[in-house]
Amino acid sequence: MTYDRLVCANCAAPVSQGRCPVCRANRERLQQEGPFSGLNPVALVALLVVLVAALALVAQQTA
Ligand SMILES: [Zn+2]
Repeated sequence: MTYDRLVCANCAAPVSQGRCPVCRANRERLQQEGPFSGLNPVALVALLVVLVAALALVAQQTA
């Protein structure tokens, strides 16, 4: 997230500076969303790997 470019509607300062409670709340919210938004593609790739591994096991057993 490029939250460092966001300007606060309350104090008109960059949110990343955390000058007012609104800034700090937005900054914490955006920082908390960061890891979660990055987790979804990783979880998808992990799920894909598990699926491929399961298919490979089934193919080995049937062959
Ligand atoms: Zn602010």
